[in-house]
Amino acid sequence: MAAQRLDKIIASMGRWSRREVKDLIRQGRVTVDGVPARSAEEKADPEQAVIAVNGELLNWRRYTWVMLNKPAGYLSATEDGRGATVLDLLPQDLQRQGLFPVGRLDKDTEGLLLLTNEGGLAHELLSPKKHVDKEYYVRVAGRLTEADSAAFAAGLHLDDGLVCQPAELRILTSGEESEARVILREGKFHQIKRMLAYLGKPVLYLERVRMGNLLLDPVLERGAYRLLTKEEWQALA
Ligand code: URA
Repeated sequence: MAAQRLDKIIASMGRWSRREVKDLIRQGRVTVDGVPARSAEEKADPEQAVIAVNGELLNWRRYTWVMLNKPAGYLSATEDGRGATVLDLLPQDLQRQGLFPVGRLDKDTEGLLLLTNEGGLAHELLSPKKHVDKEYYVRVAGRLTEADSAAFAAGLHLDDGLVCQPAELRILTSGEESEARVILREGKFHQIKRMLAYLGKPVLYLERVRMGNLLLDPVLERGAYRLLTKEEWQALA
């Protein structure tokens, strides 16, 4: 959506007149992306900007959704006494919004991780009933075969007792090391590593590339993030 004047965006929400909005801005009580607005003429994109009055977020961005391209070395947690968490990759204004990761990626796993402060929808996305599939690129030691794909499709029963639902293993290359795409409809602790270790092909590298219909944005470098668009957020629900 095209950028509009800040006073127009806020007044269109019906809570303050244009005159009141101007006063609020002058008093430094309006922030755009965490930075106090300087003038009512300042422009912002109402679909993208995080606009707050007296610290309260307006528009659909009452909730914040962040897509992060997670690098290895960061924990999917909000705090950890010992190591860096994915929250450390976000700027202060986002860190203050009570974001948490939607599910977990292992410390050494890279790729698509969502963070939000919208607890209800996050919970739904992770619920087994919702069946949001997750796609990964994986590199393993050893030669992947069609027998491995068939075992994934049948649903593996691991030695440690884990009963996996049917999953897809699409082989991309096969050799001393092999590459594949894995699609899961569930997300148990270390699941892909456990499934492939059980087949004797330990994981060397793992990257999540998709959750449901949301692809990891190729413009995001490793460690970079962006806010979800309104359309992406709506498509999650
Ligand atoms: N499966 C794993 O083993 N690790 C992850 O981080 C995600 C899926």
